[in-house]
Amino acid sequence: MSQLYFKQALLADGWASDVAVDVAGDGLIQSVTPNTAIKNAGGIAVPGIPNLHSHAFQRAMAGLTERAGPADDTFWTWREIMYRFAARIGPEELEAVAAQLYVEMLKGGYTSVGEFHYLHHAPGGVPYAQAGEMSGRVIGAAQRAGIAITHLPVLYRYGGFGEAPTNKDQARFICSAEDFLSLVSDLVSGYAGAPNIRIGIAPHSLRAVSESLLSEVLAGASAIDGSAPVHIHIAEQQKEVDDCLAWSGARPVAWLLDRFEVGTRWCLVHATHMDDGETAALAKSGAVAGICPTTEANLGDGLFPARAYLDRGGALGVGSDSNVTVNAAEELRLFEYGQRLSRKERNVLGEGPGSSTGRAFFDRAAKGGAQALGLKAGAIAPGARADIVVLDADHPALAGKEGDDALDAWIFASMGSPVRDVYVGGRKVISEGAHAEEEKIAQDFRKVMKRLV
Ligand SMILES: [Zn+2]
Repeated sequence: MSQLYFKQALLADGWASDVAVDVAGDGLIQSVTPNTAIKNAGGIAVPGIPNLHSHAFQRAMAGLTERAGPADDTFWTWREIMYRFAARIGPEELEAVAAQLYVEMLKGGYTSVGEFHYLHHAPGGVPYAQAGEMSGRVIGAAQRAGIAITHLPVLYRYGGFGEAPTNKDQARFICSAEDFLSLVSDLVSGYAGAPNIRIGIAPHSLRAVSESLLSEVLAGASAIDGSAPVHIHIAEQQKEVDDCLAWSGARPVAWLLDRFEVGTRWCLVHATHMDDGETAALAKSGAVAGICPTTEANLGDGLFPARAYLDRGGALGVGSDSNVTVNAAEELRLFEYGQRLSRKERNVLGEGPGSSTGRAFFDRAAKGGAQALGLKAGAIAPGARADIVVLDADHPALAGKEGDDALDAWIFASMGSPVRDVYVGGRKVISEGAHAEEEKIAQDFRKVMKRLV
């Protein structure tokens, strides 16, 4: 057992001072004691934010898609570039890129990641000798960095609504239901008991599965683990909504909610385009809306109807998705700013007059993210994982500030990052802003990037 001390800590029932946190050998918090005799120790502790949506390999192409294409430049032209880039990522490349990314995530205030993983096979679609080769590389990178991972192997079977054929660029992603369930089963048994690893499933999108296939894998995956998280890309692009309407007469969120028991195990990533009925129904379902503000802005997706969704009690969390930004505070800031710009109002996503917008947002992202990743996390409380981010109270951004003011300053007004230490499952993985292996991990990353770019 170990004991941590903090000058201030954001606990389940609010801020407390001079806090001791006892962490058991299993990485869970055993007890939390405020007002101890140890004064002014160790910074401002907040729960680590779970990053609910990442495609690790896309970190390698961050910054390389910011030149306009010849005609209309959209998500769909970006996807072409992404496919070409993905074709060059092998096991070694994936592991090096993911390790660098996960160190960056820890430094950015994330303590766990939902890795939505679809690079299953070798270029051209040839299976690796071990079906779980690429999954193993991603999980290995997470272990090396020390971040908790909910690994979400993707089921990708079709190239468009109505069981359209896939194209050659998608060959690396394709699995039958049988192969997919066998991979999930191997991963669940292979990593059973590993404290920082959880396995879920990710039917890629309604474009990539059929109703019967989705039913089959949901039943199969539930038989392996009845509480496994289920993530799906749902309505990122207006074209996706239009195509779904043309195919089925229904919008994507409505189509899914009408046919499947979508509940608290589910995370609907990019629930960007919803009408009022869908917004109310998703909020009521108990599922988490997975919002990736920077990537959605980068790709020109659109804005999630956040205020209406929150007014109906909907759960949400944030993800870094394409990993052009890997920073929890920046992600939350852009989320709020998008809403301010579209509504021409300030403090849109707070809890009403006088409340801190950063705090309201932070609480939701911590809780919703943990739910989406199937982790006992998102709170500094007995029984929860000791996933804790410690802010440097002496950082200029936080000077003179405490509690919600410090949180607002981190999210809205930090030049540089005040993240000082990060604990994952009670283990200190970032100390004084640095990761013990960051030089070696960055070296491996630079070597791989020279080959890739
Ligand atoms: Zn995605």
